[in-house]
Amino acid sequence: MNKQEECIFCKIVAGDLPKFDVFEDEQTLAFMDINPASEGHVLVIPKGHWQDIFSMPDEQLGYVIATTKRVATAVQKSFQPDGINLTQANGKGAAQSVLHFHVHVVPRWRGDELKMNWELIPGDMDSIKVAATRIRENII
Ligand code: 5GP
Ligand code: ZN
Repeated sequence: MNKQEECIFCKIVAGDLPKFDVFEDEQTLAFMDINPASEGHVLVIPKGHWQDIFSMPDEQLGYVIATTKRVATAVQKSFQPDGINLTQANGKGAAQSVLHFHVHVVPRWRGDELKMNWELIPGDMDSIKVAATRIRENII
């Protein structure tokens, strides 16, 4: 599999860094963002390393989108937000900070005033763990 030694998401896939995972299959992994923009914020990635939308093979995109739908459905059931944003950054100008393709699944509440480029504020690990458990229970 495509892998890059210095990439934190490749390290997460390899099990070399801790994660609160919510779903995994052969091609994809979904885990909690450690700087959650809102409660229940999940990242969905291909297990292989591709930097952005431009380098992602269509087949891989298909796998990631299928997992994203599965995870978003579980997040909706777990937290019943007013909505969910799927966002995905390509390049520094779009505020991409981790250069391994990923889709953000971000629960939204009316009036939350969340900005597109939200500030990265470390979350409370116990709360993130609880959120992961709730979502995992609703994965179908
Ligand atoms: P980007 O800014 O590239 O769209 O999003 C990268 C995301 O990865 C950020 O929301 C950031 O909080 C998250 N992130 C960065 N490092 C780690 C990590 O080590 N573990 C987890 N779970 N998320 C991370
Ligand atoms: Zn990577």
